[in-house]
Amino acid sequence: MSRVYNFSAGPAVLPEEVLREAADEMMDYKGSGMSVMEMSHRSKTYDGIIKEAEADLRELMNIPDNYKVLFLQGGASQQFAAIPMNLMKNKKAAYIVTGQWAKKAFQEAGNYGEAVKVASSEDETFSYIPDCSDLAIPEDADYVYICENNTIYGTKFKTLPNTKGHTLVADVSSCFLSEPVDVSNYGIIYGGVQKNIGPAGVVIVIIREDLITEDTLPGTPTMLKYKTHADADSLYNTPPAYGIYICGKVFKWIKKMGGLSAMKQHNEEKARILYDFLDQSSMFKGTVRKEDRSLMNVPFITGDKDLDAKFVKEAEAAGFVNLKGHRTVGGMRASIYNAMPKEGVEKLVAFMKKFEEEN
Ligand SMILES: *Cc1c(COP(=O)(O)O)cnc(C)c1O
Repeated sequence: MSRVYNFSAGPAVLPEEVLREAADEMMDYKGSGMSVMEMSHRSKTYDGIIKEAEADLRELMNIPDNYKVLFLQGGASQQFAAIPMNLMKNKKAAYIVTGQWAKKAFQEAGNYGEAVKVASSEDETFSYIPDCSDLAIPEDADYVYICENNTIYGTKFKTLPNTKGHTLVADVSSCFLSEPVDVSNYGIIYGGVQKNIGPAGVVIVIIREDLITEDTLPGTPTMLKYKTHADADSLYNTPPAYGIYICGKVFKWIKKMGGLSAMKQHNEEKARILYDFLDQSSMFKGTVRKEDRSLMNVPFITGDKDLDAKFVKEAEAAGFVNLKGHRTVGGMRASIYNAMPKEGVEKLVAFMKKFEEEN
C-alpha cells in the first residue's frame, strides 16, 4: 500500500485511522453480519450510529441545546437555495461576497427575494476579507450571509461581521471543526463534509430552533424545509447513512486528538510552516493579504505559468498530489485540512526549497 500526500481542496484527505477502522468493519459491522452501507437506516444499530455522531459533534462544538443538528444531502450548494426559502420572511437578505461560493449563494438567493450585496472583495480577486464592522445592512434583512473560509482564494474571516443584530448564516464547509467556534453567534452554521470531515454526500446544518418554522416561501419542497428534517431527527427519508457513519468516526478521531482547541493548534503549526516559507521565498509567493490568511487553504504562485505547471508536475511525481490551483486563480493551492499530518507540510516545504534551488 502506498499513500500520497493529498492536498486536494475537496473531497480531501481523511485520517488514516478512520479509513482503517472503516475497512475493518466493512464486511461485518460489530457483529451485525453486514456493512453499514447495507443496513436499514431504521435499524437499532444505525440509530445508535447517527445518535452517537450527533452527540459527539455536539460535544466537540459545544452546541447549545436550542440548536438542531441536521445531517442532510444535496451538498453545500443546495443550501444556497434552502437558506432563503426557509429564512427570507421579508424577502430580503444581506450577502458578503468574498469568493465564488459566496457569490453563488448570493446569486441563488436572488431567485427568491432581494439579495443585497453589502460588501465584496471581488475588486482584488477575492484576496482579502473586507472590513465588516459597519456595513449598510438593510433594517429588514432576514439574515446576513458569509462564507467563513474561502476555499478557492484562501481567505478566512478572523472576526465575524457586525450584523447589527441580524441573524448570521455561515458556510463553513472548508473550516468545519478546524478550530473552536461559538455556535451561539450564528443562526445557521453549515457545510458540506467533504472538505474537512468525511465523504461527499453529507451536509451538516446546525440551526437555531426559532429559525425552523412552517413559514417557508410558497413552493418550498418538503425536502428543503428544515422543519421536515428537524422533526424527523434527520431520518425523514433515507439519509446519507454510510457518510454519516464515517463523519462519526472523524468526530471520535478529533476528540481523541484533543478536541477543537488541539486541532486549532495543530492547524496553526502546519500553516505557519508553509506561510513562513512563502514569506521568505524568492520564487513562491502567497496570494492573500496576510491578516486574512486561511489555515486550511493556502494558494501560492511563482508568477510564471510554465514554472507553476512544472512545479505541479514534479510535485505529483514526488507524491504531493492535487496541488494545482483552482482554474480561476491559477498557480498552486495546498489544502492542509485537519487530517493532513504536519509531516506532509514539512515534506512539501522541503520539496519546494529544493525546487527553488534547482530552477
Ligand atoms: C466546496 C464548497 C462548496 C460546495 O460544496 P458542494 O457540497 O459541492 O455543493 C460550498 N462552499 C464552500 C465554502 C466550499 O468549499
